[in-house]
Amino acid sequence: MTTAAALPDALSDAARSFAGGPHRLVIGGERPEAADGRTFETFDPATGRPIAEVPYAGAEDVDRAVRAAREAFEHGPWADVSAAQRTRAMLALADAVEAHADELAELESLDNGKPLKLAKRVDVRLAVEHLRYFAGWPTKIEGETLPVAQPNMHCYTRKEPVGVCGQIIPWNFPLLMAAWKVAPALAAGCTTVLKPAEQTPLTAVRFAELALEAGVPEGVLNVVTGGGETGVALVDHPDVDKIAFTGSTAVGREIGAKAGRALKRVTLELGGKSPNIILPDADLKAAIKGSYQAIYYNTGQACNAGSRLFVHRDEYDDVLAALVEAAGKARLGPGLDPGTQLGPLISAEQEERVRGYIEAGKAEGAELVTGGGKRGDGGWFIEPTLFSATRDDLTIAREEIFGPVLVALPYESIEEVARRANDTEYGLAAGVWTRDLRSAHKLAALLRAGDVWVNTWTAGDPAAPFGGFKASGVGREHGRLGLEAYLENKTVWVNYG
Ligand code: NAP
Ligand code: MG
Repeated sequence: MTTAAALPDALSDAARSFAGGPHRLVIGGERPEAADGRTFETFDPATGRPIAEVPYAGAEDVDRAVRAAREAFEHGPWADVSAAQRTRAMLALADAVEAHADELAELESLDNGKPLKLAKRVDVRLAVEHLRYFAGWPTKIEGETLPVAQPNMHCYTRKEPVGVCGQIIPWNFPLLMAAWKVAPALAAGCTTVLKPAEQTPLTAVRFAELALEAGVPEGVLNVVTGGGETGVALVDHPDVDKIAFTGSTAVGREIGAKAGRALKRVTLELGGKSPNIILPDADLKAAIKGSYQAIYYNTGQACNAGSRLFVHRDEYDDVLAALVEAAGKARLGPGLDPGTQLGPLISAEQEERVRGYIEAGKAEGAELVTGGGKRGDGGWFIEPTLFSATRDDLTIAREEIFGPVLVALPYESIEEVARRANDTEYGLAAGVWTRDLRSAHKLAALLRAGDVWVNTWTAGDPAAPFGGFKASGVGREHGRLGLEAYLENKTVWVNYG
């Protein structure tokens, strides 16, 4: 059993009160336990100790949640709500999230391990921005009148909500990923069943509670906490119209295949092995700072991490020396400690995976320039790690590590580096550091990635589409494209002849 004693002293009363439980599913307006009474524990990654016990939803619970979402969509309040009312409900939810920003940031930092500052400035703030951006859309979802050739025929299109969505999210930005998924779904008029990752269930449940308090009708946003099995039940449920997934490429492939067979709508935001290229004419100071953040931000647990750093041979040694110096100064610690810059990894399993990659790097002949070690006892900390390599076919240069491990690779020409940067199964993001406009645009056109950042990394906005080429995913989130992934087009023909 979980006890409040396991919670860190740094928590505010509000966060402590929620984290202390009891925790329940959110299905319609009800707060049930799992039908079979199963639970699982979520852990504090900074200590490795359990912080809360949460219901493990099985197929029966998922079915109840899908029924609640279907009822709200077809007959319940959401079906009758006007576009303007959807906007108001979403703005009220955004305000509620903002009003609980400190509490949510603390819960995120506790459950995920990330620095509190980051949880506040990135996770919570951007979740609010996504809700507000998409709250503007309901009143702008328009069909068209089409100039068809047949006489006496009125032909027009309607954009209708896809229906009941199953949304499955990962543990690296839990609340933000919930907002990325839920905001466009609500804007489109869909209802949803959201499954947070088993490592970080807390903020999704709190988010759904706030939605109910803010006036989002019962059944519109349901949350089923659980493990992979819960996700499988959601994907396999015949009454789910669309699956939206963010997570590993392996699971994404499986979900995409199942959605293909069932002919469900599907969007997938998967992994990456993103190349970050420093050209010889770059502002080196800015490039080094940006490249450091590109990989070590969120302890490397970001799908768009800049995990392959290509540096021109002439600047290679200087850039690596500066990165080593910065990594040496990094303050690792619990997310709730105000001095912390780099939090722990999410789980013992993830630490093990990352350590396996570090060992593979050494065994395959890459040079370990800095880091590679474990820090502290209890928590899942790994030092910021930098390898130098000359071969692109090393495991650490090909596979997504999802940890604070950077592989630096020297190059000589733009054409060569573009070819090597693209020589990956992934295509989520790519970066270029240069003062030369021609090189910037040339590489932006050559690089096969959903986002190309020039003289910046991880620039993003709710209005700017985000998603991957190749094995990095299917479809886009954010902006008009993100909204359209939750809409069906209907063409209506009216013969008035
Ligand atoms: P994962 O297994 O893909 O998990 C993502 C989400 O999918 C979680 O909610 C997970 O539930 C659920 N899930 C797992 N198996 C499922 C299935 N067969 N059907 C439906 N849903 C399923 O990722 P992970 O194991 O947490 O992390 C492994 C690796 O994935 C990382 O090392 C990293 O490389 C990559 N990753 C990528 C992202 C990204 O942003 N693109 C995010 C996280 C991880 P449970 O967590 O409860 O099992
Ligand atoms: Mg946790």
